[in-house]
Amino acid sequence: MMNIKVHRGLEQIGGCITEISTATSRVFIDFGQNLPGNGEATTPEQDRLMVENIFATNAKKHEAVFYTHGHEDHVGLFEYIPPYVPQYMSDGTKELLLIKYRTLKEGVELSLAQLQNDANSIKEQIEEENFKKSNAENKIKIIARMNSWGRTSPGKKPSPIFIGDITITPFFNCHSIYDSHMFLIEADGKRIWHTGDYRAHGYMGKGLFPTLRKYATNIDTLITEGTMLNRNDECIHECKVSEKMANVMKAFKYVFVLASATDIERLASIKNASSEAKKTLYVCSKFMASTMKFFTERESSLSRGLFNFSPRMLRLNGLDRIKKKGFVLIAGTSQISRVKKLLKELPIEETLLIYSSWEGYYTIPEQIAANPGYKNFRELFYNIVDIHTSGHADKTTIKRVIETINSKEVIVIHKEGD
Ligand SMILES: [Zn+2]
Ligand SMILES: [Zn+2]
Repeated sequence: MMNIKVHRGLEQIGGCITEISTATSRVFIDFGQNLPGNGEATTPEQDRLMVENIFATNAKKHEAVFYTHGHEDHVGLFEYIPPYVPQYMSDGTKELLLIKYRTLKEGVELSLAQLQNDANSIKEQIEEENFKKSNAENKIKIIARMNSWGRTSPGKKPSPIFIGDITITPFFNCHSIYDSHMFLIEADGKRIWHTGDYRAHGYMGKGLFPTLRKYATNIDTLITEGTMLNRNDECIHECKVSEKMANVMKAFKYVFVLASATDIERLASIKNASSEAKKTLYVCSKFMASTMKFFTERESSLSRGLFNFSPRMLRLNGLDRIKKKGFVLIAGTSQISRVKKLLKELPIEETLLIYSSWEGYYTIPEQIAANPGYKNFRELFYNIVDIHTSGHADKTTIKRVIETINSKEVIVIHKEGD
């Protein structure tokens, strides 16, 4: 008898853990970290114990963990999974995570070298950086060992993966991070469709309903995300985001865009807008330069140039020429000190911030407390416009997904509690 247990995620956005088991086998879909303001904040020690507990209960001969995508609220606990349990993710997710932790490690090594050269540096600081370094190294080691599946070309059926008597088939999905997937899970004659996080209003969202109509047939249980179920926002398409950006980019000489380095579609919107506004595109972080390089290698031939990125690296010492011409600079919150320095050199009335991230990061107190970077970054600027669209399906799309799949049962996860 097949069994579904949602450990976390029914009454909160993120921190997702779903278990599907038979008499001999079980798979977990996602092992995510709780997001600020969603579920209890936990210490690493509590996280480790919780994961340990889950694996000690209801153990089966065949076990595995599958990840829908690389956001923290879905993969955040991967380091605590027992080493004997294989973990699976898309090869794009795996590479993104490797880029993330390798860049982090390099950054830590740099500040370690500075600390060690500085006679006044404090011992505790060095210890803390050393801890961060070994933490990143440990994560890189675990990710490098993970199993991965490759992207199936459109129109072809992806290959299933077998865990004991459970069959899992990954299907490419559009979300605000690259290489996200949904799953068809078959066990004991039952069929489950797990959507992960998804949307239809991105460049890669066209495939959602054709894929569902073709493969999500005779589904017993649909597990869908419901982030936007309590929100009435109409989601604009990424094309519209790009259009709006181009318009404001034309009006200001120096344009900063705060956006995520892992969201290939948003980066494409910004890139197109900047070329529409005839401005040179810059980045100032190694992380963003690396993800863009990776996206270009993987996707440029498939996307007719949409995902072909060739940004320049902005350096403060070559500023005069750049100042004359104006620019579009994409940055993340971790570049705040660099951006601050740069702003000192620019006339404030000709400078604009396009805030292209979720508004909750600077409006919700719990979010600000957990991560003040977004609010701080915003406060550096005088002229600000918000141009963004959600990474999640709007209400209308979720309803259409439920109608299209027409399953016997629907479980909504990744939603606000009552
Ligand atoms: Zn999520
Ligand atoms: Zn997500």
